[in-house]
Amino acid sequence: MRVMVSLRSVPTHTLPPANERMTPASPGAVSSPAPPAGMAPLGSPGESTARRSRPMPRAERPVSLYDLTLDELVTGLGQRGHAPYRARQIYEWAYAHLAGDYEVMTPLPKTLRAELAAELSISTLTAVRDLETDDGETIKTLYRTFDGEFVETVLMLYPDRATVCVSCQVGCAVGCAFCATGLGGLTRNLSAGEMMAQVVGAARQAKARGRTLTNLVMMGMGEPLQAYEATMRFIGILHDPAGMGFGARRITISTSGVVPKIDALAEQPLAINLAVSLHAPNDALRDRLVPLNRRYPVGELLDACERYARKTGRRVSFEYALMAGVNDGDEVAAELAETLRARDIPCHVNLIPLNPVDLLPYERPSQAGIDRFAAILSAGGIATTVRYSRGVEIAAACGQLRVQAGTMTMADAATPTARHEVVGSLASSDL
Ligand code: SF4
Repeated sequence: MRVMVSLRSVPTHTLPPANERMTPASPGAVSSPAPPAGMAPLGSPGESTARRSRPMPRAERPVSLYDLTLDELVTGLGQRGHAPYRARQIYEWAYAHLAGDYEVMTPLPKTLRAELAAELSISTLTAVRDLETDDGETIKTLYRTFDGEFVETVLMLYPDRATVCVSCQVGCAVGCAFCATGLGGLTRNLSAGEMMAQVVGAARQAKARGRTLTNLVMMGMGEPLQAYEATMRFIGILHDPAGMGFGARRITISTSGVVPKIDALAEQPLAINLAVSLHAPNDALRDRLVPLNRRYPVGELLDACERYARKTGRRVSFEYALMAGVNDGDEVAAELAETLRARDIPCHVNLIPLNPVDLLPYERPSQAGIDRFAAILSAGGIATTVRYSRGVEIAAACGQLRVQAGTMTMADAATPTARHEVVGSLASSDL
């Protein structure tokens, strides 16, 4: 079925105004979802500052069922003479029943199942490796994409929730000094369908353990706000009550500080949780750790956070990867407390003791140092939590498994601006 071809002219959702915040029962999610991945040229202006970018021709990028909004599926099937309720059945089976094969969608006629199976893949990701740790409560999956790249997803099971940490790019252009993902630069953005495939995979893993997926954090590989269009489309599909119906309060986007896109996100109809990877209270230090700071310095970033909190009514989380001898000093803690206290931002600081990466020269502070840093922040009136990364023994910080799997070469790692990372992303899984 040429669903994806005919769908390319399908209008996007008509969306409510920003002041009509959606509930999980409202259809559609975010404004202006981009068309399926194949339509949007990679690295479009403002989307990426890739050091190493290999954009692919549109025709080479397959569209899967997970890329499609319900409206697009209705239209695509309608052009084949199928009633709209067939699209809703497919959505329900794909997301409520987590079906990985059209064949099990038994309410559909056999002919339609065969048509779909022949022409529209459900997913374009293939799971190649699962690793478990924390007594089976952290499961990391390495996926191969249709074009031979690798991305990682982590499912974390807690007593009261199950959180998936999703990747949004192959590699990352930001190049934070402490990040494994940033070592090789950006290869390409993932499509919305490739992100949905990670969520469905995690939902299946949770279900197999008698659990239900409850939360999602975009803290895996990549910078979501540099893959903005695909990320917004993904969240729209994820939120659709005809599918998974993920509520905004259960979704967290983490950014290294793409200021214009924080403002764009604030205008979206869904008030999504925002986490900002701060890692330093001043430009001199943050310029070294997060190169994007040279473009959007700390003051501008905190201004944007203030606007986001005011517009959405949401508290902002600041992620702070603690690195021994780098950003863990008493005076740095005091400056961080003072900087945040001076702002009108309802916020919480998550301190994430570094997950060391083999290729990078950063260490985790001592327990006494971690406790002292947290105490100074708390004494300064800043709500603070120390979060320890899960899955250290399976390289659970973003990009680490990909490095260990040899999918990143030493030549990649030697890129002059590349270094390391952490992403305590996984640690802040309980957002
Ligand atoms: S920490 Fe995040 S934003 Fe920074 S390089 Fe790694 S993946 Fe990119």
